[in-house]
Amino acid sequence: MIFDLQRASMDDGPGIRTTVFLKGCPLHCAWCHNPESHRPGPELAFDATVCTSCQACVAACASGVHTFDDAGRHAVAFDRCIAAGACITACPSGALRLYGSERSVESVMAEVVRDRAFYAASGGGLTISGGEPTVQLEFCLALLRAARAAGISTCVETCGVAPRDSYALLLPLTDFFLFDYKATDPVRHAALTGGSNELILGNLRWLHAQGAAIRLRCPLIPGVNDDAAHLRAVAALSTELLGLRGVEILPYHENGAGKYERLGRARLSLSAVAPLPTVQAGWREMLALHGCRGLLE
Ligand code: SF4
Ligand code: SF4
Repeated sequence: MIFDLQRASMDDGPGIRTTVFLKGCPLHCAWCHNPESHRPGPELAFDATVCTSCQACVAACASGVHTFDDAGRHAVAFDRCIAAGACITACPSGALRLYGSERSVESVMAEVVRDRAFYAASGGGLTISGGEPTVQLEFCLALLRAARAAGISTCVETCGVAPRDSYALLLPLTDFFLFDYKATDPVRHAALTGGSNELILGNLRWLHAQGAAIRLRCPLIPGVNDDAAHLRAVAALSTELLGLRGVEILPYHENGAGKYERLGRARLSLSAVAPLPTVQAGWREMLALHGCRGLLE
């Protein structure tokens, strides 16, 4: 069940890559810009800004998801949707879409191999992201095997929340890991992401001890997780785990904010704005001050 496939991606590991985004995530980070990844199944999204109120969706949907009140307001009962897609076919304006479709390994690989020349020239390859790829472990493993068989380099982006056994299975098939690290204080981490960071740190240290090639990815959200203690802890990890292949800062952006509304979902409360360049420079100075190794541009 994938919700996106991006060719020519430059931000998902070394070189030029094709990134496959799998649905399903055990975390729900307050700043997540991919809320369409959270649930494992397909889900409807409605963009009210392009709806013309033609009401074609009302007649098309047998589950009664779409209704209009006397004032002509369109209500969408997302909880009744069975993702059959009839309303999407009927909608003339593109106001409705489904996130998530079942794909075979073969059909995904048919797209991945098209950019083989770019991978070879840039040191790129396939990246499996999400969501959290290990939620669909069997598919993830099968896709990695297929890429390896095709001579294509593999990368997995993980939030770190998965059983150790899952990482043991990924390890021999994965050339590069992008491993997220989000907050250091355990209570804060749980409040911001819905999960514990103990498991994440345990998996990170274990993968590193196995010799995995890992880039640490740290989303930083001004006023939320860019406190001095967290930056100090990121720097400390970079000096503890000497085999890390770099530390990457991911500055907060607001690109995904509208998706929550389109999915009919409330967002975890987050009062943050995208950081100014001066704020980002301050993060880098602080990390450098604490001896951070391998900080990437
Ligand atoms: S781990 Fe990633 S996909 Fe999952 S909720 Fe957090 S930011 Fe979103
Ligand atoms: S079919 Fe599309 S444009 Fe017409 S009311 Fe439904 S969502 Fe709006």
